[in-house]
Amino acid sequence: MTILLGTKNSHKIREITEILSELLKVQLLTFRECPFSDVPEEGATLEENARLKAHTICAQTGLPVLAEDSGLEVEALGGAPGVRSARFAGERKDDRANIEKLLSLLKDVTERRARFRCVAVLAWPTGDELISEGILWGQIAHTPRGTTGFGYDPVFIPDGYDQTLAELGSQLKNRISHRRRALEGLMRQLQSRLAAEHLRR
Ligand code: IMP
Repeated sequence: MTILLGTKNSHKIREITEILSELLKVQLLTFRECPFSDVPEEGATLEENARLKAHTICAQTGLPVLAEDSGLEVEALGGAPGVRSARFAGERKDDRANIEKLLSLLKDVTERRARFRCVAVLAWPTGDELISEGILWGQIAHTPRGTTGFGYDPVFIPDGYDQTLAELGSQLKNRISHRRRALEGLMRQLQSRLAAEHLRR
């Protein structure tokens, strides 16, 4: 089966490619082989944005499309930045500025519980879709640490670890991440669907 990845974020492309290579034999295409236009993330939730991206790019290209939307939800901030994670400190999508804003809002806050959430959608040109959510719980660190990954990785300490995701490295991150969990759920559903189609033939 061939699937087009509905993202132009190079970090996400790398992570999704690595994770899927361990889960299922699918041929992945990116915007480099099959160009598509950007889809404005206008939804009010991660679910809405993931579905919007998957179905819009599917309609543009005629291919099955895998898209995801993800974000950081901090309990002390009522779930913010959430769907606004990429643009928390402004439209420029600046990771460093986003982290600075987050740490300054949490300056005197001791309760630093937070989670990453990812919603992944696989959409077909027929309008069919599969949808799956993955969550990674942890704490927000007091200062950024580590150099790998992207976004809020330098300030996110997953439960069960003392280091941030940016210190733990991509191999470990890709085994435990919200993205990994969402994609595992999606690939399980896809396998069932493919098996059912095979039986019908
Ligand atoms: P979007 O899905 O392109 O709207 O962007 C999601 C934003 O959430 C990213 O720009 C990051 O700020 C944050 N984010 C999502 N997943 C991760 C992750 O795995 N590590 C760090 N930050 C993430």
